[in-house]
Amino acid sequence: MDIRSLTYEELERDMTEQGYPRFRAEQTYTWIHQKLVRQPSDMKNLPKELRERMKEDWIGVTEETRLCSGKDGTNKFLFRLWDDHVIESVWMPYRHGNSVCISSQVGCRMGCRFCASTIDGLVRNLTASELLDQVYAMQTIMGERVSNVVVMGSGEPFDNYDNLIRFLRLLTDERGLHISQRNITVSTCGLPDQIRRFAQEDMAVTLALSLHAADDEERRKLMPIANRYTLDTVLHACRYYFEQTGRRVTYEYSLIRGVNDTANHADRLAKRLRQYRPCHVNLIPVNPIKERNFQRATDKSVQNFKYILENNQINVTIRRGMGSDIDAACGQLRRNYIQKYQ
Ligand code: SAH
Repeated sequence: MDIRSLTYEELERDMTEQGYPRFRAEQTYTWIHQKLVRQPSDMKNLPKELRERMKEDWIGVTEETRLCSGKDGTNKFLFRLWDDHVIESVWMPYRHGNSVCISSQVGCRMGCRFCASTIDGLVRNLTASELLDQVYAMQTIMGERVSNVVVMGSGEPFDNYDNLIRFLRLLTDERGLHISQRNITVSTCGLPDQIRRFAQEDMAVTLALSLHAADDEERRKLMPIANRYTLDTVLHACRYYFEQTGRRVTYEYSLIRGVNDTANHADRLAKRLRQYRPCHVNLIPVNPIKERNFQRATDKSVQNFKYILENNQINVTIRRGMGSDIDAACGQLRRNYIQKYQ
């Protein structure tokens, strides 16, 4: 069993079935999800015998290494899992609060050409407790409250759908850390069935769609998933998400020099997205990875791209390069570690 993945009701059922009084479940849940204890032995007001038992059911992450930026306070964590796999998570301090970026899987099977996380394929899904504990561990280590959570690290969250939903319910639970739904973003390469299902979960989190191209042919060159679903299918699912939740969808567009960063690309993107407003485009100058020879778009082409979208009444931001002095592109910290030590 995995005690930190249980909802309040499930924990209560489990503990009363085992013959414990109901209030033990409340105490345990509060220790785990509010006081963020790192191990069962820290739950001081529980009987020793119960704490001992929970040791076997305790799943979480432990810090393996960390890179800290001297420039802007970004911290990149490499966490070790119980089976010795490692994952990356990032802590980013902003003026409006601390934001964390977490991984949803060990590896990924989506195969996006510019992404380091997918090179060796999918290893396994993360449990809800492993998703949560990335947030809990960072908040505890940094000693400050997390206010925003983005599921944008390694992995495809909708390829780990049930654990994702369980994680989101625990993360937003008022008896736990109680992160506001509107401060959570889930990023997907675009799985339409799951987007529609997500729209029905009664959880108004922000959906981010990784677009990276304005038409199917070009998108297929960068993202294998585009062979399975056309842009129209995915964008319709996003519109449905907006209609159901009232949350404006974010479109992510990684700018790769000479591949998708020209004025013509911007024009075509603007034309395509015009009918999907209100929306928001987040431009990300691509982080080059050594396994591929994609290059970062120049500042000038990024600015020009932004200008063209804005001229078409599309809301645009450029992702700020956090932690540029410790820069390891998405998934690179883990890859470097594996190549060195495993
Ligand atoms: N699988 C999900 C979430 C993980 S990737 C998704 O595809 O959205 C998070 C974002 O980072 C995606 O937009 C992804 O396309 C982008 N990304 C991945 N590798 C990148 C790189 N090397 N440079 C810039 N963006 C990258």
